[in-house]
Amino acid sequence: MLSIPDLIRKKRDGGQLTDEEISFIIESVTTKRMQDCQIGAMLMAIWQRGMVAVEIQSLTREMMLSGEVMRWPDEWKRLMVDKHSTGGVGDKVSLVLAPALAACGCKVPMISGRGLAHTGGTLDKLESIPGFNVQQSAEQIQSILASVGCCIVGQTEMLVPADRVLYALRDATSTVDSLPLITGSIMSKKGAESLSALVLDVKFGRAALYKDLESAKQLAQLL
Ligand code: URA
Repeated sequence: MLSIPDLIRKKRDGGQLTDEEISFIIESVTTKRMQDCQIGAMLMAIWQRGMVAVEIQSLTREMMLSGEVMRWPDEWKRLMVDKHSTGGVGDKVSLVLAPALAACGCKVPMISGRGLAHTGGTLDKLESIPGFNVQQSAEQIQSILASVGCCIVGQTEMLVPADRVLYALRDATSTVDSLPLITGSIMSKKGAESLSALVLDVKFGRAALYKDLESAKQLAQLL
């Protein structure tokens, strides 16, 4: 029988979590069986001890599978594209690129994030437009894509719900700048989009999550 305090201790002491343990943690996050203080402690243990590649792979997969993985009509399968920029302050790419790709016939089901640390949140900015709704179901996303070709939406109770919880608590616990946590967060959302092509735009510099080229390269490699 797995216990959350034991798993927090294991990671805190530098242990490697198994697939089964990571699956249990993410399920406990999603079903709210894990208290916020326990999630915060686990996030800090991961921030301090890191994760090896198999743990990151498992974390990402379990986060993706915490909600619906979108399915598209057969005729769209080769058209599903997206990009992810690893946050700076301005939204300089998404708002231009998504409609441009849609104009070229692609479909862009972008699941984006809110502000993390000092970075600007695409969703927060979009919500400043009266009536703009970033909470859409998978059916609504498909209908938006059929009519205009692109959308920018947030995580929901149905769409990568584990990221929704972890994302907010990372911000509150100063555990944003962790390579495994960033990788899991970004790639679980992109995985749930069932894409045929993805471009990753990894920033570094004063306004980015990572300030220097070396750590940005490490993140790019992991992604
Ligand atoms: N964008 C995300 O979606 N997640 C992160 O952790 C960082 C940037």
